Amino acid sequence: MAPDTTRPPHDPFAWTAAALDAHRSAGLLRTLTPRTAGSPLLDLAGNDYLGLSRHPAVTAAAAEAARRWGAGSGGSRLVTGSTTLHAELEAELADFCGFEAALVLSSGYTANLAAVTALTNAPGDAGLLVSDAGNHASLIDGCRLSRARTAVAAHADPDAVAKELAAYTGRGPALVVTDSVFSVDGDAAPLDALAKVCARAGAGLLVDDAHGLGVLGEGGRGALYATGLAGRPGTVATVTLSKALGSQGGAVLGPARVIAHLVNTARTFIFDTGLAPAATGAALAALRLLRREPGRAARTRALAAGLHARLTAAGLEAARPDAAVVSVRAPSPHAAVDWAAALRAAGVHAGCFRPPSVPDGVSRLRLTVRGDLTEAEIDRAVALVVATAPHRG
Ligand code: PMP
Repeated sequence: MAPDTTRPPHDPFAWTAAALDAHRSAGLLRTLTPRTAGSPLLDLAGNDYLGLSRHPAVTAAAAEAARRWGAGSGGSRLVTGSTTLHAELEAELADFCGFEAALVLSSGYTANLAAVTALTNAPGDAGLLVSDAGNHASLIDGCRLSRARTAVAAHADPDAVAKELAAYTGRGPALVVTDSVFSVDGDAAPLDALAKVCARAGAGLLVDDAHGLGVLGEGGRGALYATGLAGRPGTVATVTLSKALGSQGGAVLGPARVIAHLVNTARTFIFDTGLAPAATGAALAALRLLRREPGRAARTRALAAGLHARLTAAGLEAARPDAAVVSVRAPSPHAAVDWAAALRAAGVHAGCFRPPSVPDGVSRLRLTVRGDLTEAEIDRAVALVVATAPHRG
């Protein structure tokens, strides 16, 4: 039968218009604003904490790796997607951060999905996950993908975690998952206390060190190295290669046996194309730079502390930063949006967070420092953030 061309075809995606309208009328519609090359905007919104994404040694390594190995890795890591470059990065990353072994994945997001699912889902009893209420979306999604039961513990509260572990009567593995540095507020997790709670209960501890690598610990070796937890048999870390290392990709760090288990079971490792050679080479070059120039991490932390001190001295309300993220409170969601827009017009790009992105109802600007910012750039940033601040009162 010929198709009926007199009636408009049924649009199975028509419902998305109403969903978009709901975002629009709540003032929460997200759109993309592409950066233009050479933009004069001062970037206080990105996560390139050490300014390495544009470092000549890093970009040259990316170009060289693409020339040598190709633009793509050509297949999954277990087929054609593993090069000696991947192996070198894994060995050097594990060594730098103080772990026995590492596994590189295509992003920090897939690294978290891999770690959370592979370290639960034991045969017979999938186990228990205890997840901090402030965890990153990728850890939350890992919990959703796992067949283990998930208990959400109050933010940064080791006693709440201990209670959940004590109440667990199953035979499957128990795993506590937390960010090391929480991405929006920049506060650090109580890793030491969490490790003690886990050790007492025989639970594993999985720490997402996306915002700690390159910034915390001696020379930027990360939050786990800084707290003496790196390399402990009960500790596994995930990192991203896309923030302080200025590249793209992610990794899981832990005991060699655990890494081998991930190679055999983690679906976001097995069924995903291996990280592109350019990103792998760039991350390796950045890691080597960190080793050669260990002062970068401390400079970044000092810049964040200085930015916080100057903003609070000017009367703004900002949490003391534990790494490179400075979170500044805004009086209302609309004030936060207007503040970020005014800053942008004045030449500064800042992150803007408001409900429902932040579940606590507190809207804020998220400012990040980069280790290569000059004093003059910090001066300019402080002056503009203060000058554009909404009136309080
Ligand atoms: N974990 C945390 C805490 C993050 O902030 C991010 C990135 N925003 C990720 C994981 C995901 O890393 P990637 O961007 O490499 O996927």
